[in-house]
Amino acid sequence: MMAGKQHPRALQPSQANGFWVDSTQSRPLVAGVETGGTKTVFGLAAVEDPTTILLQHRIETTSPEETLAAVDAAFASWTASLPVTALGVASFGPLDVESSSPTYGTIFDTPKRKWEGISLLAGLSAVAAKPTVVYSDVTAAALGEATNPEARNENLLYLTVGTGIGLGITLDGKPLQGRGYPEGGHLFVRRHKSDRFAGICPLHEDCAEGLAAGPAVQSRMADGEKPDEILEVVAYTLAQVILSGLYFTAAETVVVGGGVSSIRNLREVTAEHLALLRSPTAPPTIRAPRHEHSGLVGAMRGAALLANAAP
Ligand SMILES: [Zn+2]
Repeated sequence: MMAGKQHPRALQPSQANGFWVDSTQSRPLVAGVETGGTKTVFGLAAVEDPTTILLQHRIETTSPEETLAAVDAAFASWTASLPVTALGVASFGPLDVESSSPTYGTIFDTPKRKWEGISLLAGLSAVAAKPTVVYSDVTAAALGEATNPEARNENLLYLTVGTGIGLGITLDGKPLQGRGYPEGGHLFVRRHKSDRFAGICPLHEDCAEGLAAGPAVQSRMADGEKPDEILEVVAYTLAQVILSGLYFTAAETVVVGGGVSSIRNLREVTAEHLALLRSPTAPPTIRAPRHEHSGLVGAMRGAALLANAAP
């Protein structure tokens, strides 16, 4: 912003515990965090507009103690000095998302061994004073992407294709999550007629994730498969996951993100396969995520839902 256009009263940040905050902020706020495999992002947004991140920090995800201590310091600072009304936590899993469970917010057995058995909520002191919601990262991302102001009650499928395949769903604008969350990456799919790759899912070998997630793509490349062949098989696989999702939800929006989605033309070729597979009614457009950190936006939105539901 141009210096001459700054509003003198609205832009007077004060530094508390190393985190810049706007001390003149008077609107009710929510704080959110998304812990990822390599980076953790956390920030603040207004309850009335949770998709606009007012303040954001990004740190490397290291040990759980160090990572959560950094987030805790920010949350504690914000809740002490600002009108923060609720918190949202989004994390990689597997994790306990059942709010009535004694281990709510605890990460289960994970390849990230240091995080196994870690309670995300126990590491955040502000949780004791503020209502808090916990989502899987993919469910949060779906909620973060279901933010089209013209379609407030969106049915949306969010597919992330990276080290695994994750499927997040919102129905009528609300995240599909309760005792657990969707695990659509492990759907069983038909194999492409030209495909001889064995599949690498440790549970099922050739489920969708075993055929088309990042490690499968790398393994295919090492086996000498050509980029066009990989594109074809991955798109065919993703189209089937999306088709199943559409049959169950009649979603009008499909978002595909994650590292593998950067394969050139992947969304377009997936859409072509979806059409060939007789997608119900008109197949929706497959778009890229709107937000850089959809999971953080979803955590904010979930916290805002809590804040608005509070008596
Ligand atoms: Zn599987």
